[in-house]
Amino acid sequence: MTPAPAAAAKNTNTAAEGEKQGKMPSRKEKTLDHLKKNLNKWIHNQELRDLSGLNDVPRTVRLLRQEGWKIDVRGDGYVMLTSLAKGVARGKRKAINEKVRYQVFSRDAFRCRACGRSAKDGVKLNVDHATPVDWGGTNDISNLITLCDECNRGKKAWVNSVPSQSMQQIMNNQTVEKRIEALFDEFPNQDIPSLMIQLVSKGSLDWQRALRRIRQRTGKKILPIQDRTGYHYIKEQQV
Ligand SMILES: [Zn+2]
Repeated sequence: MTPAPAAAAKNTNTAAEGEKQGKMPSRKEKTLDHLKKNLNKWIHNQELRDLSGLNDVPRTVRLLRQEGWKIDVRGDGYVMLTSLAKGVARGKRKAINEKVRYQVFSRDAFRCRACGRSAKDGVKLNVDHATPVDWGGTNDISNLITLCDECNRGKKAWVNSVPSQSMQQIMNNQTVEKRIEALFDEFPNQDIPSLMIQLVSKGSLDWQRALRRIRQRTGKKILPIQDRTGYHYIKEQQV
């Protein structure tokens, strides 16, 4: 019998190194720490850059979001942490299995629920959440819809540009009509894509009728935009 080789000394960490690590928070940690201290307050990227020394703040914010931190991002460079509790990391979200995907495709007649196109029209179909997970949506089949690549991209761009906290509040309204009205109240004087109105309706095919009822009941000027891909609520400025 040959003798077993001596185990290599694995532990190369010295006490000094451990102490150093403990004292030096990473730039990402500094960023998160600052956001935690300013919970529910909009903080500009520049402030985070000055504080942490990070060159690419948006990238770090993306990483933190992927880890499950609830950070809202605005197009003008402001970010806001909306909860001290870390959510479920992106990669750990339950995947939608093949059987369910097929059920969703077949229920939607293998067509994009937003534009109506199918594979025959050269589009790739995806299964996506009608109510995004960040807004409280689940993996239940009733919350899954068929979307083509193009509509899916458009949807994601919009979903990432709006504060998930306000969207959660909008989604908490019980009726389709209330949710659509809350959506326009939250985002007046800007174009809202029809797809977003559909999402807020949670797949109700009735949303155009609900929109008409809102206009009749409130007299709000909610008008189709020029290419008819969405609507715009013209809210008079308060003097
Ligand atoms: Zn589509």
